[in-house]
Amino acid sequence: MDPDSEHCLSTSCLLYTPAYKTNARLSLEIILQGTNHVSGSVQPRSALIPNTQARDAKPRLLLMGLRRSGKSSIASVVFHKMPPNETLFLESTTRIQKDSIHSFMDFQVWDFPGQLEYLEPSFDLEDIFGSLGALVWVIDAQDDYLDSVARLNRTILTVQQYYPGINIEVFIHKVDGLSDEFRTDIYQDIVQRISDELSDAGYENAPVHYYLTSIYDYSVFEAFSKVIQKLIPNLSTLENLINTLGNNCGFEKTYLFDVLSKIYIASDTRPVDMACYEMCSDYIDVIVDVSELYSWDHPERRPKGDQIQEAESHVVLHDDTMIHLMEMNKYLCLVSVIRNRESKEKRGLIDLNCRTFQDGLNEVFSRRWEQLEETNHLDGGALT
Ligand code: GDP
Repeated sequence: MDPDSEHCLSTSCLLYTPAYKTNARLSLEIILQGTNHVSGSVQPRSALIPNTQARDAKPRLLLMGLRRSGKSSIASVVFHKMPPNETLFLESTTRIQKDSIHSFMDFQVWDFPGQLEYLEPSFDLEDIFGSLGALVWVIDAQDDYLDSVARLNRTILTVQQYYPGINIEVFIHKVDGLSDEFRTDIYQDIVQRISDELSDAGYENAPVHYYLTSIYDYSVFEAFSKVIQKLIPNLSTLENLINTLGNNCGFEKTYLFDVLSKIYIASDTRPVDMACYEMCSDYIDVIVDVSELYSWDHPERRPKGDQIQEAESHVVLHDDTMIHLMEMNKYLCLVSVIRNRESKEKRGLIDLNCRTFQDGLNEVFSRRWEQLEETNHLDGGALT
């Protein structure tokens, strides 16, 4: 194929049984059976986090907000690949839903109905907030939000008093229907109301962060990415590794994605470009779909023994932009964008460096999460 011709698309995929498809299935089995037993002969080649370790750490994520604010929709779109339009038919949440997401981190989405008086003594605060990584509060920006903000303020004060380490993440949601000006006004009003309440109570630096979100674009994925990244104790080490990789390979942007949710858990430290993120995110869908069609349980493509060869793929677009994807382990894949005419000739170097990066990543995750907070030293292989 002539790379200079308009709309030319050349792809090259090594489509062995993709480990993330295999393990998506295994994870489902774990949820259904409610045990930690993983059956089947196919094991991940490089499980970054052993199950026991993930269970020990188990950062938990709680999704709260008033009825009809959009909680179930967010969980369904982000973690269950539901098309946004189909959320119109979701039943409103009337009870606590524990939705265990078996991803690179074991986190849970608890979907609370808004009318629950969880701050009353009949509820066990330790059960709700103990071991919580982040509390995501969803506010419907298209509705009257004063009640929601008042409840949120009460919740933040309680959390600050007993669990000051929990990140409070406020999703100012459904902003798709609002003009830019109106969005900014609502954003500022909500921030103001919460900050006033907090400073009146004497909390000047409470860990409260705000995001404008909608399920109809990538903003909710972006927001979740930021939320999850705060729960990774060794994020700066990962970013440094990705920066080094990007500098050596001439990548414009690199994301380390969680394949199932398409949340990125780390990226290089260059500014995030939404168009670039969307392109990488869409490319994961393409590869997962193609892998599912042609390599799932295909006897000739299944590698022998316990070893799984990671999926690797690249595509060169008509403007010479190359998207390169390499599966890192059963949950994560590295997706990079290269805007360079010589990118195709550098494929060997790129693959080699990505493998070196993979080794570094393994080393980072093979250490215990707690230790990583103190030890930021990484003795990874040199990138050439
Ligand atoms: P829950 O009770 O908080 O779980 O709310 P649901 O998830 O059931 O959502 C209530 C309604 O809000 C549904 O009709 C969704 O389609 C709609 N909704 C959710 N997110 C968005 C969004 O980002 N934009 C718009 N316009 N509607 C949304």
